Amino acid sequence: NSVMAARMTDAHRRFLQVLMSNGITEGSEARKLHQHCCETDKVYYAHDKLDDFISTINSHLQPLFMQIRKGLSEDDGRAHYAVVNLVETEVTKMASDYTELELELFRKTMDLIILSENGFASSTDILNLADQLKTKKMKKKEAEQVLKVFVEDKWLSEKNGEYTLHTRCIIEMEQYILSNYQDVARKCHICHSLTIQSQVCESCGIAMHLPCVRKYFRGQTEPRCPKCNEFWSCDTP
Ligand SMILES: [Zn+2]
Ligand SMILES: [Zn+2]
Repeated sequence: NSVMAARMTDAHRRFLQVLMSNGITEGSEARKLHQHCCETDKVYYAHDKLDDFISTINSHLQPLFMQIRKGLSEDDGRAHYAVVNLVETEVTKMASDYTELELELFRKTMDLIILSENGFASSTDILNLADQLKTKKMKKKEAEQVLKVFVEDKWLSEKNGEYTLHTRCIIEMEQYILSNYQDVARKCHICHSLTIQSQVCESCGIAMHLPCVRKYFRGQTEPRCPKCNEFWSCDTP
């Protein structure tokens, strides 16, 4: 983009601050916040200019190696925004908030989730790891409590006793996951971003997010793989 970076106003700064303190912000919330910030600071507002508003902030964040990034929820495909630090690793991102023991449990949980078929790890499997941690053994009760905090802090999300990575975690740690789980981490064939809960083609092995599957196969009675053209063997969600 050759256009000179637009000026960063108080509205931009306010928007950024709220996004950072939220951790993750759902798309409709971000749109409301955009309006609120522009009105509060009496700055030009147009409802369809959120992307421009964000790219202005991003151009000013660039020297700090930070970026507001948009990602889709793996459940419903809705857009979410998070502020990503591009030079931090997973360890430095979370290190200030958790103990070494808690981080070890998180990494083990992440391994289970990413190595699983469906992108979920059961609480039983996670709790079984708790007394095998290198840092120090963790009691199951204690591990349960730590998992709860990871859910509250939006690093994990939980459904019926199964854990997966929260959208916030996927947006913030996409690069980390892609480089640390090179052989197993999958990118969605449709939207090209990291996918944790995905359907995989039995013939050629491409993966697709569930919302991307839903969108792509909408109205098709005999869904075929977009890459190899074989019948799509998974039940489309
Ligand atoms: Zn996708
Ligand atoms: Zn295929």
